[in-house]
Amino acid sequence: MISSVTRKLLLGVSALVLVQAMPGPGPLAGQAPEDSDHAPVGLLPGDPLQRLGIAAGDLRGAGSNPNIRYLGMTRFLDKARAVVTGTLDDSTDFVPRAIDALDKYGIKATIAVSTQREPISLLWERLREAISIGHEVASHSRRHQCQWPDTESFCREAYSQDEIVGSRDDILGKTEQPYVWTWVYPCGNCADYEFVHRRLMQAGYLVARNYPDERRGGILVPDLQTWARDPYNAAFTQVVQKKGGVAPAGRTELPDLNAKFDEVYKGEAASGSSINKRYGGGIYHFMSHPQWLDYGTDKFFEQHLAYLGGRPDVWYVPMGPLYAYQVVSENTVVRPIQSKDGWERFAVCHGLDPAIYNNSITLEFRVAGGRKIEVRSAGGPLPERAPKQLIDRWNLEYFRRAGDSALVTVRPNTIVELRLID
Ligand SMILES: [Zn+2]
Repeated sequence: MISSVTRKLLLGVSALVLVQAMPGPGPLAGQAPEDSDHAPVGLLPGDPLQRLGIAAGDLRGAGSNPNIRYLGMTRFLDKARAVVTGTLDDSTDFVPRAIDALDKYGIKATIAVSTQREPISLLWERLREAISIGHEVASHSRRHQCQWPDTESFCREAYSQDEIVGSRDDILGKTEQPYVWTWVYPCGNCADYEFVHRRLMQAGYLVARNYPDERRGGILVPDLQTWARDPYNAAFTQVVQKKGGVAPAGRTELPDLNAKFDEVYKGEAASGSSINKRYGGGIYHFMSHPQWLDYGTDKFFEQHLAYLGGRPDVWYVPMGPLYAYQVVSENTVVRPIQSKDGWERFAVCHGLDPAIYNNSITLEFRVAGGRKIEVRSAGGPLPERAPKQLIDRWNLEYFRRAGDSALVTVRPNTIVELRLID
């Protein structure tokens, strides 16, 4: 199935029409497409196989070697059963404590800050450190303007280039993060306007997280358990926080919080008609305002994090890289090429800008008899990973064995080679 993210990226304007025609908030009256010629985010011109130096004559049919067979790409990185991702909103004094809590349990999150709202000047150093261990910093605009109702005229003004592009450039200027993938809507305002989506897309954001219907408690359990159909109006699974803002309630009961994760992990709630759920383990996405938490190992936030953490079959990843991964996995092509000196060889490529999409993907191979193998990527040996090691990065390269399977995790636009050792 091709998701809306691919449609929107690859087909441009016709995709917008498609998305608007779907049920949901729906198109807004009198709204004309502003920019029918917008460029897709990060799609490179030309043939990716050619960039790899592969000619048509190098390609061959699959399955010529019965000992090493390519089975396909895994749904999540490293064949994880489920994904845990979190988002933290707002520039407040509580951000460092919230990051400390995440780090205690190995949870990776997207930290959405307003880049010209104090105490941001006191937060940058901690944010830089967070990026270095696998968190993401996202834009929550520069000034965090909000208004109810969020009229079109308010959104046209609030979503200025200064706010959208300026906040992105603030993050790039203050940190070493190579790209800003994620936008988080202040107060959840303006997330339903297609012209806002287009402005965010033009500034290079891949995904924008909403905060739906705060007044009536829509934020408590939006219950998204997979990737959002429209990445520029992306929900999450549930909040983990006390009552705050204009919301009628919070969500702090540990059994409820943990049960929702269990549901996503097991994929039990899946039904054929639901587009938000999926059988067999999905994406668990919690969001929190650090100023509406209690800290300490005996409090709901850390107890929930402790429940989520330390699972070898879960992929811990921030939201932006998780959405980039969706695009990468849907656009990556794996082609068998001529074997050489006993190496089975595969060209793995996509036509996306690797500066934006620096993600790894995982290829699964069946190795006859579970025999020992060695693996190379781009001519260099890949390290083998222990089975229980946590999956908490999105751009590393390695392989690991699971019975007769070899799971090879690489960044695309490379040639992967496998060879039996004995
Ligand atoms: Zn906010």
